[in-house]
Amino acid sequence: MHKEDQPLIFELSTEGRIGYSLPEMDIPEIDLGELLPEGYLREEEPELPEVSELDIMRHYTALSKRNHGVDSGFYPLGSCTMKYNPKINENVARFNGFAHLHPLQDESSVQGALELMYDLQEHLIEITGMDEVTLQPAAGAHGEWTGLMMIRSYHEANGDTKRTKVVVPDSAHGTNPASATVAGFETVTVKSDENGLVDLEDLRRVVGEDTAALMLTNPNTLGLFEENILEMAEIVHSAGGKLYYDGANLNAVLSKARPGDMGFDVVHLNLHKTFTGPHGGGGPGSGPVGVKADLIPYLPKPVLVKNGDQYEFDYDRPQSIGRVKPYYGNFGINVRAYTYIRTMGPDGLKAVTENAVLNANYMMRRLEPFFDLPFDRHCKHEFVLSGKRQKRLGVRTLDIAKRLLDFGYHPPTIYFPLNVEECIMIEPTETESKETLDAFVDAMIQIAKEAEENPEIVQEAPHTTVIGRLDETMAARKPVLRYQKQ
Ligand SMILES: *Cc1c(COP(=O)(O)O)cnc(C)c1O
Repeated sequence: MHKEDQPLIFELSTEGRIGYSLPEMDIPEIDLGELLPEGYLREEEPELPEVSELDIMRHYTALSKRNHGVDSGFYPLGSCTMKYNPKINENVARFNGFAHLHPLQDESSVQGALELMYDLQEHLIEITGMDEVTLQPAAGAHGEWTGLMMIRSYHEANGDTKRTKVVVPDSAHGTNPASATVAGFETVTVKSDENGLVDLEDLRRVVGEDTAALMLTNPNTLGLFEENILEMAEIVHSAGGKLYYDGANLNAVLSKARPGDMGFDVVHLNLHKTFTGPHGGGGPGSGPVGVKADLIPYLPKPVLVKNGDQYEFDYDRPQSIGRVKPYYGNFGINVRAYTYIRTMGPDGLKAVTENAVLNANYMMRRLEPFFDLPFDRHCKHEFVLSGKRQKRLGVRTLDIAKRLLDFGYHPPTIYFPLNVEECIMIEPTETESKETLDAFVDAMIQIAKEAEENPEIVQEAPHTTVIGRLDETMAARKPVLRYQKQ
């Protein structure tokens, strides 16, 4: 459904129109027919649009404006921490000495880059309260898998091969059970109680001598702090299991509390969330993993070590789970995270958490009269509403999300976590102003009123975007990515 009159670039084609000017050739022309094996040369010209440079400029600029990013508007996508990515990070990542390195360069010629990686590891160790960190994993889910493989190796090394199960709460992010399965474990679900926290009785019931680990994020995916975390750690540890911390919600505890002090043995961080790496296009991300001392032997190799004042990669790690990524991680994202940590400092990171939590609570309380609030307690950096009230009026949470597009917002996360009906999960982050938060809340209130007075306008939204509602399954499974002549 096209709502815009702007013609597609193929429709603008005029024979003979040219969009480039190249200098005259000053080398001998080569006969491609001689270089390429037979059958590889095109027999016909490709059907490309013949357009001017200005046409092509407008084409790409128009496409770019159809995108929504943190730099173009508010993006309260719960659990994803869509905070502003400071541009100083980009400047530093573009320094020639970083951007032009080759991963196969000799260690002696990249000491500065290794120092940055080593220092970043040290900062992450301090921030998480762990004993060692690897920067190899390329994203959060990859970090989860890496951590679980280490836990697996640890149990195996102890001859503890009956530990085949990983316990995850019913509010867990989908990557948790997925990573556990890919790492060869069976997942067991532990229920949440009426306060939205892990049910301790149920935890005692499911944890036993077949438990390899409990995977948990704290605050959990409802934005609530698991107050009983020390007791939970005790339950799992005394049964011989390990505690895995999904660090996607670290923005809520930075400089305030550390997973290592809560009893966790393994932690992954999403540098592209908490530490301002951009999420653009699904990556590249960075999902460093921190471990406590007894898991250090299993870290992916090579491990970056400091020898005197030299930095080097140590490959002599017989118990390592091996390499989990070509080379040493997504270095460019590490440079951005390092820049962020250094520019913020400990007090800055503390202010991040305080403002992220304040912003979320402010929005939650302003929205409370208009939407159902399943857990009426202070939240951390995000909170969940339920669209149950609106659903009774025939307006689903999906409709509310689509209507927000008309106001120029990226919708919040919806239908996650799974244990809240018609869930709407809002994470404002600390980088948004009160004016922006108020404007978004006003839009949500208007939509709640529309649901009562004029539900069609919400049910039929969006009204202002280029494309209306998609068949989301078909769009993901069978995307149409090429121009098709009508
Ligand atoms: C984002 C997220 C993940 C996965 O991280 P990726 O970097 O997207 O792979 C895991 N758990 C939670 C709670 C998350 O929000």
